[in-house]
Amino acid sequence: MPKCTAQEIIKEISEVQSISLPNDWFDNLSDKQSVFSSLYQWMTDSGRVPSDQLTTLHNRTYVGEKTYSKLLTFERKRLAKTLKLRGEKLEEAVAWSDMNSGPKSEIGQSPIAGDVILVIPESSRKALNDFSIRFRNENWLAAVKKVKNHAAGATYYQWLVSQVERPDHIGDTAKDAAIDDTYPRESNDYGELITYLTANVSHAALECFKDGWLEYIQQYPERIKPAAWCDECGQKLNIEDALIAWSKEDQNEVFILDADCRAKFDEFDPMESRPLPGITGADLEELATKVGLSELDIEKLEEKLKLWAVIPASGNSGWVYFIKSESSHEIKIGYTAGPIEKRITSLQTAHSSNLRVLATVPGTREYEKELHRKFADHRLKGEWFAPHHDLVSFIAVLKDNDSRATLVDPTNQTGH
Ligand SMILES: [Zn+2]
Repeated sequence: MPKCTAQEIIKEISEVQSISLPNDWFDNLSDKQSVFSSLYQWMTDSGRVPSDQLTTLHNRTYVGEKTYSKLLTFERKRLAKTLKLRGEKLEEAVAWSDMNSGPKSEIGQSPIAGDVILVIPESSRKALNDFSIRFRNENWLAAVKKVKNHAAGATYYQWLVSQVERPDHIGDTAKDAAIDDTYPRESNDYGELITYLTANVSHAALECFKDGWLEYIQQYPERIKPAAWCDECGQKLNIEDALIAWSKEDQNEVFILDADCRAKFDEFDPMESRPLPGITGADLEELATKVGLSELDIEKLEEKLKLWAVIPASGNSGWVYFIKSESSHEIKIGYTAGPIEKRITSLQTAHSSNLRVLATVPGTREYEKELHRKFADHRLKGEWFAPHHDLVSFIAVLKDNDSRATLVDPTNQTGH
């Protein structure tokens, strides 16, 4: 716990009075009354504090830890001598004496540093209170920061085993990891972890790892350095050197490549590319539309880049939209990270009948998936659903539940 200095207090409360005890103050002290009473008596007798303030002094006197310790030492000797007490009984008596008339020795739960006596005027009580709250909060923040900095060094494994009591699949993975002696415990390298796990655990356990890893890097993004692996030669790339590339002619696929491998590709299949760092979910979507990736391919690519910490593991919120085909009346529940208008335009291009937007609501891909599960009974194909009453009324109530939703009245949207 950091100490509060007299200077800090004086700076905050200008009316505070600073008093120092003469060197020989304890020498001729009476043992008829508590050392604290002697202190206040001396303060008024010597004219340092007006005598009419004597009774309130013990509430307004603050002492540095050195002074406090001298006072307690004297009080302990005095009580031992006058009351003939020892050990626990003596300590109890000292504590009582201090509680009844002792000065305060802390501000904002921090000890006051040094050999100093401060008298706070009645009028500064609020200022003192404000200061101690602020001082305490600052200490909290400093303590939290320290813990966070320390924890920031923790590896995925350390995080994972701390989740061992969770009743879900992450908890199960944690239990397995906790008893796995060969787990790469010191590693925070995705490539190293996935290589180890691929060779040692089931496919299902590997999927659990991915979920855990995403949760971990979402919680502590500062612990993970983005990384990338070349799709061609497999080597780990310096993220600055990684490219996302696609063929100019034969499309439907994108690759993560280093410059050398891109050049090799270029020889037989001219490529286009852009640097991987700084790419966003919206960029990916635009690229996917251009290259003609399927929804599944986009998802896979997005997941991979999240696992590599190239794009944020979450908080990458976009829009969940509901659109309707005017010819078939079928409803598509989709997600887009980018501007919704762009998405609709690109969908319209690929679709022969007219599309109408029924509603858009801020959301994530996870929310989109949740809705797909919710309406699974009415699913026709891919992301298209039958215009069942459940779905139509769900869309209609969206607006009531989420003021951010933009709703187009579906009853006005019937096909013609
Ligand atoms: Zn390569």
